[in-house]
Amino acid sequence: MTAATPPLEAPPLEAVVAGIAHAARLAGRKPADVTLIAVSKTHEAAAIRPLLDAGHRVFGENRVAEAAAKWPALREAYPGVALHLIGQLQSNKADEAVALFDAIHAVDRPSLVEALGKAMAKSGRRPDCFVQVNIGAEEQKGGCAIADLSALLDSARGAGLPVVGLMCIPPADLEPAPYFALLAKLAREAGLDRLSMGMSSDYATAVTLGATHVRVGSALFGARGSAAA
Ligand SMILES: *Cc1c(COP(=O)(O)O)cnc(C)c1O
Repeated sequence: MTAATPPLEAPPLEAVVAGIAHAARLAGRKPADVTLIAVSKTHEAAAIRPLLDAGHRVFGENRVAEAAAKWPALREAYPGVALHLIGQLQSNKADEAVALFDAIHAVDRPSLVEALGKAMAKSGRRPDCFVQVNIGAEEQKGGCAIADLSALLDSARGAGLPVVGLMCIPPADLEPAPYFALLAKLAREAGLDRLSMGMSSDYATAVTLGATHVRVGSALFGARGSAAA
């Protein structure tokens, strides 16, 4: 063979881990203070196993039913998995979500706070809760309004939810940094030290602005809904 070997590219997991570490160091932070949530929604077990085999243990799903179908078997095969619910949660699925997930990222309204409080009291399980903020005040998006945040945090704490931080999804097609900075400011004011922000296209920016949890899907698994997915 005379053709030159193409340069070896780092596997996606290594590349994202390195990107997080680089961004953390730029901001004077420790890479270990950022948790990479590998968002495996829509991907089957066969696509998830390579990450588990590489030692990764933190995953995110956005639908309770899909997670319930996929993860019990994977968890049995790979002990130590932490599963994060990153999508909207209907109150009638609160019991199932509390049973299945280790963290819930989209607590955004009083009815859900109440349902989660009851589910936790019943089961004795207390997954970490992030309150989602509708950071760009977009009509169609989940998350509580900034004006309602402090009341929602009060009621979540009152209901016994272990609130650990805030989560946001900035408006698509706009520079995300100002929104990440705003979420960080809101968290500081509320005395919360965890920030769930940053996805495939902007996780490095989010890390420089204080993200403790980045939710990365397509950069690890490829595009959703493509032939390969
Ligand atoms: C799907 C999803 C992600 C991951 O998005 P990518 O762009 O594929 O990294 C992150 N957060 C939430 C809430 C999602 O639904």
